[in-house]
Amino acid sequence: MNDQIRPQPGIMEIDLYVGGQSQVPGHSEPIKLSSNENPAGPSDKAKEAFSRAVHRLNRYPSTGHATLRHAIGDVHGLDPDRILCGAGSDEIISFLCQAYAGPGDEVVFTEHGFLMYRVYTHAAGATPVCVAERDRVTDVDAILAACSARTRLVFVANPNNPTGTMIPLAEIERLAAGLPPQALLVIDGAYAEFVEGYDGGAELATRLPNVFMMRTFSKIYGLGGLRVGWGYGARSVIDVLNRVRGPFNLSSAQQETAEAAVRDQDWIARCRSENARLRGWLTEALAERGVPADTSFANFILARFTSEDEANACDAFLRQDGLIVRRVGGYGLAECLRITIGDEPACRRVAHMIGQFKAGAAQ
Ligand SMILES: *Cc1c(COP(=O)(O)O)cnc(C)c1O
Repeated sequence: MNDQIRPQPGIMEIDLYVGGQSQVPGHSEPIKLSSNENPAGPSDKAKEAFSRAVHRLNRYPSTGHATLRHAIGDVHGLDPDRILCGAGSDEIISFLCQAYAGPGDEVVFTEHGFLMYRVYTHAAGATPVCVAERDRVTDVDAILAACSARTRLVFVANPNNPTGTMIPLAEIERLAAGLPPQALLVIDGAYAEFVEGYDGGAELATRLPNVFMMRTFSKIYGLGGLRVGWGYGARSVIDVLNRVRGPFNLSSAQQETAEAAVRDQDWIARCRSENARLRGWLTEALAERGVPADTSFANFILARFTSEDEANACDAFLRQDGLIVRRVGGYGLAECLRITIGDEPACRRVAHMIGQFKAGAAQ
């Protein structure tokens, strides 16, 4: 072993990410409700575009993603020159941290915030600052109080994962207005499309130079396996991020599939309304069985148990039945289980089995 060969500071602080499990021994086709995937999958138009892409795999992809950026711009009414695409929004988070934060700088996020904010903060050698939430809701005053002359980035997912809660755009605007001048506010809109009439922060990012919005094709678009996300903000920020982005970060298949997906908004509207219907049903069904959840604005609910032991016992009970939900101890919510809204049979099954678990536990 050569202990002179050492990684940069921060790298060994990174805990390896553990994704939602997809297998249960003894179940050939478990029901996976652990990664907030769209149970209906992507639009047929996206699948057709992916199949067509196979014929041109000898060609290098577009480096500037102009066609995809224009499609996103058309659909959302945004200037394509202010859009940047990445291999999932994960890659955009990494560009932001790499470009704006380094040793001595601070990156702020909330207590139950997305784990990748911490990972990329450490990867950049910067210092994570974790801010308390108020009853599992983003607390703007607490974030403002945590900011300093060292704050470079502030990440807020709205709706948040794994809580499913969200705060009004007026609160986001108040946060942007109160930040120190060197800090960029990043609104992570991974679940924005699940909220009827919500623009994910696009209007704020259009108007305010210190606000940046991130979106993804992994959730409502049903394309988590494709790895495409995008960011939107001030031209100066896009210019910075383009310098750290590799020219071939997205394959032609990724670009063409995402373009077809974003143009099929009928599919997205159908998925949004089906999700809202089943989410309402499941929230109520669990409440009737003694398991409360906050009002969720996303495609999952955070089921609250009476203790960490009860949550883990319920998780094990569901798993025996081939149902995989997500433990969220890593997010500081060990007494909870995050349950993705699956299709109707999956929602009925998970509600039934949680009822069985509670009935058994009560005896
Ligand atoms: C799923 C998720 C993302 C998206 O990640 P991708 O890299 O685009 O798949 C981003 N932020 C949050 C809060 C998420 O839950």
